[in-house]
Amino acid sequence: MTTEARIFSETIVAVATPPGVGGVAIVRLSGPESQSIGRRIFVIPGEPSAQEWPSHLLRYGRLLDPSTGETVDRGMAVLMRAPRSFTGEDVLELHLHGSPVLCDQAIRIATEQGARLARPGEFTERAFLNGKLDLAQAESVLDLIESRTKAQARLAVQHLEGRFSQKVQSLRDEVFRWLTILEAEIDFGDDIEDLPDARHEELLASLEEQVESLLRDAHLGRVQVQGLRTVLVGAPNAGKSSLLNALLGEERALVTSVPGTTRDRIEVECYLQGVLLSLMDTAGLRSDTDDEVEQLGMLKTREALAKADFQVLVVDGNSTQIPLFEGEMIAPDVILVNKSDLPRRLDLEALGRAYPTARVESCQLLTEAGREQAVNLLMSAARQCLTTTSGECFSLNQRHREALVRTKEALQAMRDTLSRGFSSEFLALDLRRIAVLLGEILGLDVTEEVLDRIFSQFCLGK
Ligand code: GDP
Repeated sequence: MTTEARIFSETIVAVATPPGVGGVAIVRLSGPESQSIGRRIFVIPGEPSAQEWPSHLLRYGRLLDPSTGETVDRGMAVLMRAPRSFTGEDVLELHLHGSPVLCDQAIRIATEQGARLARPGEFTERAFLNGKLDLAQAESVLDLIESRTKAQARLAVQHLEGRFSQKVQSLRDEVFRWLTILEAEIDFGDDIEDLPDARHEELLASLEEQVESLLRDAHLGRVQVQGLRTVLVGAPNAGKSSLLNALLGEERALVTSVPGTTRDRIEVECYLQGVLLSLMDTAGLRSDTDDEVEQLGMLKTREALAKADFQVLVVDGNSTQIPLFEGEMIAPDVILVNKSDLPRRLDLEALGRAYPTARVESCQLLTEAGREQAVNLLMSAARQCLTTTSGECFSLNQRHREALVRTKEALQAMRDTLSRGFSSEFLALDLRRIAVLLGEILGLDVTEEVLDRIFSQFCLGK
């Protein structure tokens, strides 16, 4: 990679802690000049400035501006000598008092002494280029920094530990072992015996199963990070907004008795009983409306339904009508038969026949106790929906997911090649493509452009 020369010649500097006032701020340098710059700008009492610094030892001293000889701050400094550092280069961290003005001064002093301001994500990029992290791990640093819930942070740490990378790596190894056999068949032709079709079949099935399982794990990971995509549907006036309010515990959705008042989608996240729900109250699905706004709302409802992990149908138990949504993608996980305080006029058996896979519960949303019970019912159904996906979970970003989906497609193409009885050459061609796709996840076959795009998402100092 052409970037390596640049990597090793320049020393970069940035504030590693969040912007603003705090107890401590860390200014980080990485690169070959880290130590020499450190010795010029950080004075350790009783130690000549020419003396080599020990590695991985936090020491007290003062930050000096060499151009004026003034002391700027008192604090701690630690040198982490290459390759035992985050970036794999010499890294110097200055732990100063947490003031933006001080940080600016420290950065100015370091740049005057030869460092250059780091680009966003450049520390992590160097770690990647120096083989300290693979790309999937580097990206998890970003996820970790941006994670908002404990579950998100836990998944990002797992990535950082390389569990996902290991699985992808072992998959790729399997692909290469198979490829070696195929290439021998191609090179030595009749001199060696070809693998029987049944063995190819087995190898393919094993790869397919592993990719499927990674995608399943990724689904569960996404749910943990982004929430269970939950859609509330039902006929107007059934009580969807009331349910949404019960879940949120506030008057967020407009509750009125005029049918069709939830005109737009309301999207909110709520964290309830350990489950993150990404909730969508929808415009309902009324087919007899001419109102443009409402039609747009219905379109959005359909989009949401298509992507939903968890569908909740709210029906009015006091109405005789079973809501049927002809031609819609509705397969509710749970049906709440609302308004149990009123006489029931709905035929529950017919409801069960219309939605055979749904769990049916009755509730009322007028009282506090009723709302609490409805929320409990809903969350117990949500948890059930979560446990149907088993296994380890990974939080995959868009890039990893796409590469896995493309791998799955390439495996399907390979199945086609195999079933048509094509020769080893064709199978090898398919396999090489699969190896490239898996390599992309680990950052082995990515272009500099992709790298730049990934690392530019990081904030400065990371
Ligand atoms: P949406 O159109 O499906 O969002 O329905 P809303 O939540 O706006 O509720 C429609 C009407 O039904 C409102 O007047 C609510 O007060 C009323 N409602 C909601 N839940 C209940 C319930 O459990 N019992 C009774 N009697 N009325 C309810």
